[in-house]
Amino acid sequence: MSHKYVYLFSEGNKDMRELLGGKGANLAEMTNAGMPVPQGFTISTEACTQYYNDGRQINDEIKAEIDEYLVKMEKICGKKFADPENPLLVSVRSGARASMPGMMDTILNLGLNDVVVKGLAKFTNNERFAYDSYRRFIQMFSDVVMELPKPEFEKIIDQKKAEKGVKMDTELSADDLKDLVVRFKAFYKEKKGEDFPSDPKVQLMEAVKAVFRSWDNPRANVYRRLNEIPYDWGTAVSVQAMVFGNSGDRSGTGVAFTRNPATGEKALFGEYLINAQGEDVVAGVRTPSPIAQLKQDMPEVYKQFASIADRLEKHYTDMQDMEFTIENGKLYMLQTRNGKRTANAALKVAVDLVDEGMIDEKEAVLRVEPKQLDALLHPQFDAEALKKAKALGKGLAASPGAACGRVVFSAEDAKEWAKNGEKVVLVRRETSPEDIEGMQSAEGILTVRGGMTSHAAVVARGMGTCCVSGCGEIVVDYDAKTFTLGGKTIKEGDYISLDGTTGNIYGEAIPSAPATISGNFGRFMEWADKYRQLEVYTNADTPRDAKQGRKFGAEGIGLCRTEHMFFEETRIKAMREMIVAETTEEREKALAKIMPFQQGDFEGLYEAMEGRPVIIRYLDPPLHEFLPTKEEDIKEIADELGITVARLKNVIASLHEFNPMMGHRGCRLCVTYPEIAKMQTTAVINAAIAVTKRNKFKVEPRIMIPLVGEVKELKFVKDIVVETADQLIKESGMDMKYQVGTMIEIPRAALTADEIAKEAEFFSFGTNDLTQMTFGFSRDDAGKFLDSYYENKIYELDPFAHLDQKGVGKLVKMAVELGRKTRPDIHLGICGEHGGDPTSVEFCHDVGLNYVSCSPFRVPVARLAAAQAAIKNPRK
Ligand code: PEP
Ligand code: MG
Repeated sequence: MSHKYVYLFSEGNKDMRELLGGKGANLAEMTNAGMPVPQGFTISTEACTQYYNDGRQINDEIKAEIDEYLVKMEKICGKKFADPENPLLVSVRSGARASMPGMMDTILNLGLNDVVVKGLAKFTNNERFAYDSYRRFIQMFSDVVMELPKPEFEKIIDQKKAEKGVKMDTELSADDLKDLVVRFKAFYKEKKGEDFPSDPKVQLMEAVKAVFRSWDNPRANVYRRLNEIPYDWGTAVSVQAMVFGNSGDRSGTGVAFTRNPATGEKALFGEYLINAQGEDVVAGVRTPSPIAQLKQDMPEVYKQFASIADRLEKHYTDMQDMEFTIENGKLYMLQTRNGKRTANAALKVAVDLVDEGMIDEKEAVLRVEPKQLDALLHPQFDAEALKKAKALGKGLAASPGAACGRVVFSAEDAKEWAKNGEKVVLVRRETSPEDIEGMQSAEGILTVRGGMTSHAAVVARGMGTCCVSGCGEIVVDYDAKTFTLGGKTIKEGDYISLDGTTGNIYGEAIPSAPATISGNFGRFMEWADKYRQLEVYTNADTPRDAKQGRKFGAEGIGLCRTEHMFFEETRIKAMREMIVAETTEEREKALAKIMPFQQGDFEGLYEAMEGRPVIIRYLDPPLHEFLPTKEEDIKEIADELGITVARLKNVIASLHEFNPMMGHRGCRLCVTYPEIAKMQTTAVINAAIAVTKRNKFKVEPRIMIPLVGEVKELKFVKDIVVETADQLIKESGMDMKYQVGTMIEIPRAALTADEIAKEAEFFSFGTNDLTQMTFGFSRDDAGKFLDSYYENKIYELDPFAHLDQKGVGKLVKMAVELGRKTRPDIHLGICGEHGGDPTSVEFCHDVGLNYVSCSPFRVPVARLAAAQAAIKNPRK
């Protein structure tokens, strides 16, 4: 038997989304529930995949099946395609498994030609309506299927209106519309070099092809990447009998939600237009009436619609978004789907549905997209204003939120301007540790270079500041204090806006609203915490971050990057002195300056976390991030060290590395300079002793050695730690336990995790470096070429944002198994940026990690993602 590619609506149901797309599956479900649905068939997603496999052709087998189903559909509808006596017209609509703006949406009135239109006019006894439908069809088909620009058709209409001296489309007569059809077709022929296709079967096949083709258009590809929708899903095509909302004053069309999608309030919400077709509502040419008005206009229809809406909501146990058409007083349902909603509405609907007894807590937890919580924690743009704004360009959506402010080009200016009450956006080619205070003062950060784990991205996420990184199209001129993008030059002081959630950059001020956390949030998150099995920690470098993380529900600190404590101006010098020191004596002197800062910060972290786990990672500075570059800094450090500028420059030159990310960093520093490990251990243990002494809780330090690739390397550093720590604890007379663990971030560490676990009491997967080193992609530069990989479908997603489960994930899994073989109770977690990415969190749950750790603002997202993973796939 040949493969089945086409399904009548009566053959499907709501659980067949993968095959029929959301639209097709729901049309089938409504049909089976006996609702008034114009009938038709759905061409499956498998046909789409086959289309691509056949070199973008619909093969004969599928064509024959479409023809066969068209005949079945004619029988059901009692009308005939291409038959002027009793014409069947259809709509052709795309529908993927997940609803996807960016793809081709709808073609209406398909099946018309010069002959059929006459039949339609006769049959409906309404010539104007018939020609209006025809000209709409030519317009839509030319635009959507043949990619002729829509405005050209609008121009032709405007010209006609001018000739007739009228303003509104509705003032054009049947003859005028007939003339428009002639003009449209002439324009089509001029542009395409051939006649407008008059054979309805050709029209249908071309429209189906256009839907399949639209799966691969640039907008769809961008949307897919943002929403992690795999390319191989494909789209289905639904072919549905037309009903006409534009056939008189007892007709109309509209869109409605069962609850308010902005607030979640329980009341029908929507609008409709009398005597109109679907695109009129969307196009906004006429102002629709609120759905409540239908109660007055057509009470019977309203009653029926309200009852169907209620049934649908109960049936799907979720808020529905419905399209309907009324044809001569008879109601038809064209579509239903779970409605898109704001984060606040999502929370309210989920909580209300539990209170109404429609769903249980677990189901409620699954109903809110973790990523949506971002909107509750960060400011967002005013939706209307955003719609009107036009983006100049796009970078990586590195840290969510909305930022609007005046452009400055240096961290110093950012600080200065902010002090004077200005809101600023800091624009840099890239950021470095010395920019930290400027970054803190800015509303948003925009960089030309750098990926999702670049300095700017990591630091901004930590601060909860909006950041768009890696917009390579920007040309910055620091001297002139300007940058150009999308053909526009922006000067210092000009307003720009950044959308850290989409990566869009706007050359204008867009108003935004601060984050709002509604009362439902707390209750909802309690449910999430009840079901999750992963612990959620936060990455925090300062007591401030730690407090923020606690506020958002973090149960510990999974990563304190100790070198980040030295970004501030007063401290960075000590750090630099340490790095450029040439002798042990010089280094020890610099370390002695660093020590009190560290101890103080560690005390702050321990206090903030009140006895919860705090994992402190030892110095891991990729040196290039810290080397002084400015003349005045070099001079100052030379003075401090009592050496000449020339000599210091020599030292800096000798520290230059060709691949700093694979250079002298991580535990390698302690292997060459054990005094660093000694100093950090002293700071950690002394801080723990001090905090334990003055509080009721006990601190059990957890020390993490980074960038380990070999167990002996770990042992070498651990021996120093243990010797120093034991001595200090003994001297204090306290009974203090501590743990020494490691990061798994070098492939060799994952491959030899059984050996490493002999020394390490815990593992934390550093998936930023693990991704970098598994792919061989520089974290800082991959953004420059990854786009070509997306375009060519080599990789679909940014591996630095979403854990590559196939490759990097395999290493993680292997290390989990090897580690537990050696040490069954080993505590396992992740602290790379993936720890706050919902799909990566799900992976962490599935492979059996104990915790995930992410930046403070992503803690709620991780808590929810962990709960969803546990509900979907509970661990024993
Ligand atoms: C990592 O590599 O995943 C990690 C957390 O460390 P860093 O980003 O500081 O290199
Ligand atoms: Mg690392």
